[in-house]
Amino acid sequence: MKILRTIPEVRAAVGDARLDSKTVGLVPTMGAFHEGHLSLMRRAREQNDLVVVSLFVNPTQFGANEDLGAYPRDEARDAELAAAAGVDILFAPAASEIYPDGFATSIHVTGITDVLDGASRGAFHFDGVATVVTKLFGIVRPDVAYFGQKDAQQVLVVRRVVRDLDLDVGIEACPIVREADGLAMSSRNVYLDPDARAQATALNRALDAAASVHEAGERDGDSILSAARRVLEDAGIEPEYLELRDAEILQSVRHVEGDALLAVAARVGAARLIDNHLLSAPKDS
Ligand code: AMP
Repeated sequence: MKILRTIPEVRAAVGDARLDSKTVGLVPTMGAFHEGHLSLMRRAREQNDLVVVSLFVNPTQFGANEDLGAYPRDEARDAELAAAAGVDILFAPAASEIYPDGFATSIHVTGITDVLDGASRGAFHFDGVATVVTKLFGIVRPDVAYFGQKDAQQVLVVRRVVRDLDLDVGIEACPIVREADGLAMSSRNVYLDPDARAQATALNRALDAAASVHEAGERDGDSILSAARRVLEDAGIEPEYLELRDAEILQSVRHVEGDALLAVAARVGAARLIDNHLLSAPKDS
């Protein structure tokens, strides 16, 4: 596996592969790899001739009071894990490579970024995501890029950018990878002390409880959400948001008929965690 720092180096390496008619898969990440990241890399490995992973803690998607400085970084460990997953190129640029002096462009997606994490963290967050992902697509020009359903709203934002700007890249969303007790894997789980780590299991348990109610035939949004809220309350968690939204356009849904995204964000100990379940419409409806 090559570790590359500059855009020309990546272009040259990918260009060579393209001359040989190789397909290129890209996995954008911020590092601190866990099984969630590795599942995307393995999927990319199965489906492409050349696999590029970007490792870049993107400053523009962090707010002033967020954890940019504290975000876990361990490039040597990440490089070992990526190599073991069969990655060909780890692109780990400096911030100045991505945002040179005079950088002035931002991509803003309207509508779907106004809710959930866009409302909770601020509009800058998805502007930062959309801009850096578009840049990575321009640098690597992948055939397919791989994202985790863990960040469900991010997947929708990236798909929207690709559609609206006619970018020639396929977007593949991969399932959420969880710890044995159901906690969604996240680089931010390292912030959890043992008490908070135990408390954090309530997020997935809450989503499970709501999904069971839905599965049993409940269609009233408030009733479904109440099942989740009870579990969070019992665990002493006050969510930043706990919402049911249309799975494609993120409109609020009061009565669940089609596919719905059940999404939660909460501070647990020192971490801000997000999780979600997709509530699928019954096949016969
Ligand atoms: P991050 O490094 O947190 O920006 O994540 C990089 C990619 O890995 C994103 O597409 C995430 O959605 C995905 N990812 C993070 N955690 C998980 C997880 N537990 N399961 C599946 N994908 C994940």
